[in-house]
Amino acid sequence: MIPTGFDYQRATSLDDALAKMKAAGGNGKFLAGGHSLVPLMKLRLSEPGLLIDIARIPELAGIREADGKIEVGAATVHHTVATSKLLQERCPIVSDAAASIGDTQVRNRGTIGGSLAHADPSADFPAVMLALDAEIHLKSAKGPRVVKVDDFFQGLFTVNMQPDEIITAVRFAPVKAAAYEKLYQKASHYAIVGVAAALNVTGGKIQSARIGLTGASTHATRLTRVEQALAGQAASKESIEKASQGAGAEVTDLNADIHASADYRKAMIDVFVKRALSRAIGRV
Ligand SMILES: Cc1cc2nc3c(=O)[nH]c(=O)nc-3n(C[C@H](O)[C@H](O)[C@H](O)COP(=O)(O)OP(=O)(O)OC[C@H]3O[C@@H](n4cnc5c(N)ncnc54)[C@H](O)[C@@H]3O)c2cc1C
Repeated sequence: MIPTGFDYQRATSLDDALAKMKAAGGNGKFLAGGHSLVPLMKLRLSEPGLLIDIARIPELAGIREADGKIEVGAATVHHTVATSKLLQERCPIVSDAAASIGDTQVRNRGTIGGSLAHADPSADFPAVMLALDAEIHLKSAKGPRVVKVDDFFQGLFTVNMQPDEIITAVRFAPVKAAAYEKLYQKASHYAIVGVAAALNVTGGKIQSARIGLTGASTHATRLTRVEQALAGQAASKESIEKASQGAGAEVTDLNADIHASADYRKAMIDVFVKRALSRAIGRV
C-alpha cells in the first residue's frame, strides 16, 4: 500500500529537530532508520503529516564511556552497536543483541532509539536495557528528562514518552557477566522469546540478578521471580537449573500467534532463561 501524503524535513541539530516538531503542531513524527515507521505508514497505521529526519544529528550519534557509564546515542545504528569495541569488551550483551537483529540492511539503518521508542513486543533491545537497569534520556522543547527503564515500557507499542519528546541516548553501567539469548523467527529474526540476563557475582556468589524478557507478551518485562531465586545463590549450574525451571509460569499474559502458541512460549522461556544465565556466568 502507498502511504498518505507527507512532508519531509531533515533536522540538522537536536534543537532544530525539537523546533520542527513544535512547529508541526502535533502532526509530526521523528524518522530515524525508518524500518518500523515506514512499514506502519505503508499500512496506513501511522499517517504523520511531517517526517522529521533525525538520523544524521551529530548529538544523537556514537558510543562513549563517562563517569562509569556507557552512553549510546539514540541514532546509533545496530551495526555500529554490534561492532563497537567498547561494548564488545565492557558490555558484550549489548553488541551481541545488536548483531542478532534482522539482516544487514536492517542493522545498517535501524537505530537503538527507534527500537526503544517503537517498543515492538518482539524487539531485542528492550529486554537488554531492562537487564542492564538502563536510563532513557529524553528531551523536548520543555527540557531534558530521564526515565528509568523499569518505568519506560508500559504496554503494546506504548512507552513513557510524549509525542514531542525525543530519545537522545540510553545510559547504563557496563556489566560483563550478562548475556542475551533468543529463539527467533527465521525470516525477520524478531524474538519469539528473548531473554537478557545480567548478574552481579562476587566470590562465586550471585549477589543480584536482572532478567529482561521480550517476545513473550505485550511488552518487555522483568522475570522478578527468577531474579529473586538467584540472589544469594552460588554461581553454579545447579542454581541456574533450579532458577530457570518454571520461569515461564511467571508470565500470565503470554502471546499466541502464527509463530508460537502460548504454551510453547512458556516452555521456551525456561529454556532461554537457562541459556542466557549459563552464558552470563561463563563471562564472570
Ligand atoms: C525486516 C526487518 C527485520 C527486523 N528484525 C528485527 C529484529 O530481529 N530485532 C529487533 O529488535 N528489531 C528488528 N527490526 C526492527 C528494527 O530494529 C527497527 O529498525 C527498529 O525497531 C526501529 O528503529 P528505526 O531507527 O528504524 O526507527 P523508525 O522506524 O525510524 O521509528 C520507529 C518509531 O520510533 C520513533 N523514533 C525513532 N527514533 C526516535 C528517537 N530518537 N526519539 C523518539 N522517537 C523516535 C519514530 O517516530 C517512530 O514512531 C526489524 C525490522 C525489519 C524491517
